[in-house]
Amino acid sequence: MPGMKLKADRIFDGCQWLESDRVLITDANGQIVDIIPEAEAGEDIMRYKGTLCPGFVNVHGHLELSHLQGHMLRGTGLPGFLTQVIQQRGFDPAQILDAMFRADREMYQAGIQAMGDICNTADSIPVKAASRIRWYNFIEVLSSRDEGAAQRLAYFTDIRDRFRETRSHIRNRQPPSPASLAPHAPYSVSPLSFQNINLATTGETVSLHSQESQAEDELFRHGTGPFLDFYRSIGLTENPVSVTGKSSLMSVLPYFNGRQRIILVHNTYTTEDDLSFADNMARERGLSIHYCLCPNANLFIEGSLPPVSLLLADDRNIVIGTDSLASNDGLSIASELNTLLKAFPSLAVEQVLKWATSNGAAALGFENELGSFRIGKTPGVILLDDQLSVQRIC
Ligand SMILES: [Zn+2]
Repeated sequence: MPGMKLKADRIFDGCQWLESDRVLITDANGQIVDIIPEAEAGEDIMRYKGTLCPGFVNVHGHLELSHLQGHMLRGTGLPGFLTQVIQQRGFDPAQILDAMFRADREMYQAGIQAMGDICNTADSIPVKAASRIRWYNFIEVLSSRDEGAAQRLAYFTDIRDRFRETRSHIRNRQPPSPASLAPHAPYSVSPLSFQNINLATTGETVSLHSQESQAEDELFRHGTGPFLDFYRSIGLTENPVSVTGKSSLMSVLPYFNGRQRIILVHNTYTTEDDLSFADNMARERGLSIHYCLCPNANLFIEGSLPPVSLLLADDRNIVIGTDSLASNDGLSIASELNTLLKAFPSLAVEQVLKWATSNGAAALGFENELGSFRIGKTPGVILLDDQLSVQRIC
């Protein structure tokens, strides 16, 4: 592919709209070389109807669950959803791998340039080694009891190190994709495991499913609710969580003090008090907190949406994820943005595009390569129409 000169009705550069006469110039590798007025761009300009935008950053998904598309019941609530995921066994490994390869291709075509992926195993390594997407691998720690926490940590650390050693076949000039340990959720990680994860992730990025259901807060505040049935279904006879009388987020965020970037995923039931608490914690501990919204999955599992206006009030870092094909009909960031624009009519298109591009790149630590049309970056270029349908340009 030779370099390109690209012009469209509008250009969103990852942060803002550019002046309407601008032409985006890339080299043969898709690196941004310049952005100049049309009058200075010479000939061979490629013209498009719609909006040119940097490739999307999908901050949260589970590539490994791609084979569960169409196998899950909607509207069960989170504890019921988790029980279903655990019960879905017996898939042929080839089928699981094939579903991951398919999801990877579909996401790239849907304009996704980078993804924060939750990994329970090393099974996605061959898919990622051959992928055009840039990956951040979150090795998900599930460790609900203090007994055996050290062995669990060693198991997950070994998976993390396998990802760290894997080089991409098509991006062989780049270092391997980053990988770090990430606690699954407040209700599935014991106090000692949280302490271990904090020590193992100094200066790194972690991801945490947070306040995806009201049941989670009920468990921490009162030790009651639907999670008790979930624990019984996985063979735990007693509630492994100590009742704190506080929300789940307030109960576990204080475990972190290692300057981590923390991606809180879902936040469907997060309150103003939780947000002020997290703001203070971030200031005191030098943490950087990013709020990831996965609205289609929230509608699928719980039938509710996150408090977008609360998050917007103090200019918090909002980013977007698709979650997995177990809880979504597709892996499309554009579809997530359309859901938000429809549910919250006061949102502007440029706001949500920023969440899906430069904000997402910053959450995953890819801000020097991706997420905006700054000279020297290689963010991918996509074309959006008025309905945010995506055509990939490069
Ligand atoms: Zn998830």
